[in-house]
Amino acid sequence: VSTWSAVPAGPPDPILGVTEAFKADKDPRKINLGVGAYRDDKGKPYVLDCVKKAESILEASQQDKEYLPITGFADFTKNAVKLAYGADSAPLKAGSISATQSISGTGALRIGAAFLARHYPHAKVVYLPSPTWGNHVPIFRDSGFEVRNYGYFNPTTLGLNFEALKADLLTKAPEHSVVLLHACAHNPTGVDPTPEQWAEISDICKERKLFPFFDMAYQGFASGSTSRDAFAVRHFVSQGHQIALCQSFAKNMGLYGERVGAFSLVTADPEEKARVDSQLKIIIRPMYSNPPAHGARIANTILSNEELYAQWEREVKGMAERIITMRDNLYNILTNDLKTPGEWGHIKSQIGMFSFTGLKKAQTVALAEKAHVYMTADGRISMAGLNASNIEYFAESVHGAVK
Ligand code: PLP
Repeated sequence: VSTWSAVPAGPPDPILGVTEAFKADKDPRKINLGVGAYRDDKGKPYVLDCVKKAESILEASQQDKEYLPITGFADFTKNAVKLAYGADSAPLKAGSISATQSISGTGALRIGAAFLARHYPHAKVVYLPSPTWGNHVPIFRDSGFEVRNYGYFNPTTLGLNFEALKADLLTKAPEHSVVLLHACAHNPTGVDPTPEQWAEISDICKERKLFPFFDMAYQGFASGSTSRDAFAVRHFVSQGHQIALCQSFAKNMGLYGERVGAFSLVTADPEEKARVDSQLKIIIRPMYSNPPAHGARIANTILSNEELYAQWEREVKGMAERIITMRDNLYNILTNDLKTPGEWGHIKSQIGMFSFTGLKKAQTVALAEKAHVYMTADGRISMAGLNASNIEYFAESVHGAVK
């Protein structure tokens, strides 16, 4: 008998399954709203012009293929941290932010969870918003955390359930629990707290001694402004929280497959930072020795070159604005043109790549079978999958499904 005869078949990844069904569909009207990657107005993957320029600069400079250090390309992490915390950040100026390059946002989360599992001096309990990005659960669980939820989304209003969030953090979460916060453009709901609500969450974390662990996978992608999208992170830091932060350059630079990210921790002072740095290396070395160089070089070329940086800011804004336009158009077609039953204001008020439409599982199944429109079973759509050529067909299909 085979050594692996007792290995059970696992369930397929729910999001990749959507793409497979889409690929198998031969209808020319088909639309894939499952994937979390930006598409241009022709429905095509988009390589940013600033990325192309950075690559030609790198090509001309004929870099070698030597290994990076364990924590990656130091210039890149320095600039990534500056982008997130802001150039005026007190711990940044004090030299007390410990940072490492990571295998995109997923790798940052995994390093962070592993570091906390080993060094966080309290119970290893993490509170995730309900719902959250599906991968958060196994990342923390596989790192040895007990995973619990805090209230986040209100399916009736399709907005934030701030009362439940506050009640859970104030009364349910034991002191010193780790709280995962989506810094902006919450996935999968597209619902973010307001700046005032963030300030309250910061106060609650302080009062209840909760540890804020930020996942920032969409800086710039939500509002079009990298500093506006960093509000929550910068506010918490300004209030003295020693946050953990995961950054991804997958979406905002379109570097998905290059796997560019960073993990950072605010420490008390440079001496403590040096100790944390040494332990990050000890965590990373047996995982993958050192990160890939090419993507970090691209990102750093953009972050460190004034002209490319300005172009990047324009291009992120362009992506965010195209998505916001699709939200407005979809809302208008459903509400004004088709007079589709229901309230669709959430399509406009939600932010970032995704929208929680409120469509029920049976409706998503019917949309796939009858209209060739694919989305995840929770009714989440990637706004980036909509464009001038397919938005009317999509709206009509939704109209047909809810009527
Ligand atoms: N965190 C959230 C909330 C995400 O939506 C994603 C990507 O979809 C990630 C992290 C990590 O993505 P990546 O590993 O591609 O940077």
